[in-house]
This record gives sequence, C-alpha cells and structure tokens, in this order.
Amino acid sequence: MLKNNESLNRFRSLFEQEKEKFLSSQSKLGEQLAVMPEEMMDEVDFTALNLEQQMRLRLRAREGMYFRKVEEALERIKNGTFGHCESCEEEIEAKRLEARPTTTLCFACKTASERSEQIHIDGHRSKSQAARRFA
Ligand SMILES: [Zn+2]
Repeated sequence: MLKNNESLNRFRSLFEQEKEKFLSSQSKLGEQLAVMPEEMMDEVDFTALNLEQQMRLRLRAREGMYFRKVEEALERIKNGTFGHCESCEEEIEAKRLEARPTTTLCFACKTASERSEQIHIDGHRSKSQAARRFA
C-alpha cells in the first residue's frame, strides 16, 4: 500500500471526480443515442450508421473503458493494492502514477509487455550514438 495517505486520498478524489464527470456526460449522451451494451459493440455494423453516430459510439466505448479503469483503481485503493504493479507487485513509480493514475503496471513491466506486443525498430540509437561522439 502507498505509505503516503495524502497522495492516496488525492488519487481517490481524482478518480471520484472522473467517475462523476463520466456519469453526468453519459446521462446527457443517453438522451441523444440509445444505450448500447458493451458486448454488442463488436457486432455493430458501423458502416450502416452515419459518421456522427459512429464517432459517438466509438467515443462512448472509449469512455466506457476509461470508466472501468477508474472504477478498478478505486477498488484497488479500497483493498490496498493501488500503486503496486499487477505483474511484479513492486511499487509503481510515483511519477508514472501522476502521469497515468489508472496504470496497473510499473514502468519495467509495461515496457516488457509492450515489447512483446510489437517489434520495435529503434531508429534513434545510431543517431544518438553518433551525436554523443561529437559532444
Ligand atoms: Zn512491475
């Protein structure tokens, strides 16, 4: 658990604000567009909808995903695992938490999972080495 209760409280109120913001925007959206269950999203024929509807649906799906993350984060604050890496259980870097409060992986694990997801072609290395030679 984070030892610093003050920052834990700060994160909690941040998440609660986000949650409220989301819920109020959802109720506004709901009047304009029928609510669609998340599991149906994959089966939606987007081409049958007009562009504005498509964009709204996609935005809503993305917001829904973020909302779930926020709820999970609140849950982790409650059970005392917030701020710890889901994978290696080490504490997540404070700076990283500040930048992405809903993150569940420390920097090392996140990097490792990204690396396994995609092959990086690092074009910067040779350049920076060359630059160092002249420094
Ligand atoms: Zn980790």
